[in-house]
Formats: sequence, structure tokens, C-alpha cells
Amino acid sequence: MKLILLGAPGAGKGTQADILCKELDVPTISTGNILRAAIKNGTPTGLKAKSYMDAGNLVPDEVIIGIISERLAEPDCAKGYILDGVPRTIAQAEALEQAGIQFDSVVSIEITDEAIMERMSGRRVCETCGASYHVAAVPPKTEGVCDKCGGALVQRKDDKPETVKARLAVYHKETEPLKAFYAERGLLKKVENQPSVEETSQAILRVLGR
Ligand code: AMP
Repeated sequence: MKLILLGAPGAGKGTQADILCKELDVPTISTGNILRAAIKNGTPTGLKAKSYMDAGNLVPDEVIIGIISERLAEPDCAKGYILDGVPRTIAQAEALEQAGIQFDSVVSIEITDEAIMERMSGRRVCETCGASYHVAAVPPKTEGVCDKCGGALVQRKDDKPETVKARLAVYHKETEPLKAFYAERGLLKKVENQPSVEETSQAILRVLGR
């Protein structure tokens, strides 16, 4: 199963990917998590990416295409994967296509900008493993502590309201055209965001025929 999750920043792609990768038994590849780890480790890629990310802008396509080609060549990707947060531009989608990758489905999680603005203020991520939580909707068992690895939960710098607005503008301009790109290829499946995480997962599994 090769799946792309599309959706605005904060639509719940990371949360859904965490659930779906267990259901489908494939790894999730999140370029956002890879970039955050690179920044934390002070690698050359991290240094290049940081200023773009802090401002809510996209990291240049050539950096992303390099990261994703390397990651998809690893052995655990042989049986399939879920892409979370990539591709984010037509150029990235074309690069994946030119690499000969054929996707089974592209699921777009549909949610309004207003709902995103409300939701982002409560999002917390694990500093260590990147797992995603929400203070109200997906709380950890112990406040401020990651259920999976015990790491500290923090608010992402780019989850501040001004930055979220900038990221939504970038999403509408650069990423939303991917819906038409994949609709033309017969792969696009739209799923409305549901009141709970579980209901959204069920809706995604339904459109995937699971
Ligand atoms: P995310 O965790 O997916 O919301 O990504 C956080 C930030 O990382 C984005 O706002 C971008 O600056 C950068 N980023 C992640 N994935 C990509 C991508 N596929 N293309 C460009 N920038 C990306």
C-alpha cells in the first residue's frame, strides 16, 4: 500500500498516519519529522531548512526531493508507506512520478481554515520522537510527557497563530493544486474531517476499502 495523505497544516495528517500505519502495517514517512530531527542534530540539511520552517515557508523542492528519495530507498519501504506532508508542491509530485513511484491512493483530509486556527493552539509534539498530541482531543496519559517514548511535549515554533496563517496561505497556493493533479490520475479520495480522531480514521479506512 502506497498512500499519500494530503491536507492543510493541522488537518490531522500526522495523527491519522500514526493510526493508519499500524492498520496497514507500513511505515509513515513525514518530511516534517525528518527535517525537525535534522535541525535538532545540527546536520547541513537541518541548517538549510530551519529559517524556512520557522517562517512557515516551504523548504526548497531540491532539499525535499533529496530527503525523500533517500528515505524511500530504505528496506522498510519495500512493502509500502504512508507519506505525511510530502509531496507539497507539483514539482515534488512530478519528481515522485518521474522516479517511477505509483501510488494506490491519495487521501485529502478536508477541514476549514477556521477549524485549523482553533486546533493548532492545542497541538503538542514530542521533542524526541515527533509523536503528535492535542491538549483536548488527543491528550497524553501524563501531561507534557510522550506516551510512546517518555520525551517532553512542546509546542512547535511554527504553530504560533501568525505562522499558522502563513502556512495556510502557502498550503492553498502550493499544495492544494495537488488535489487536481491526483484527481486527474484517478487517485484522489476526499475525506471530511470528523468530530473525533477515531471517526476520521474510520472514514479514511472506508474510502480505502478496508
Ligand atoms: P509539517 O510537520 O509537515 O507540518 O512540516 C513542517 C514544516 O517543514 C513545513 O511548514 C515546511 O517548512 C517543512 N516541510 C515539511 N515537508 C515539506 C515538503 N514536502 N516540502 C517543503 N517543505 C516541507
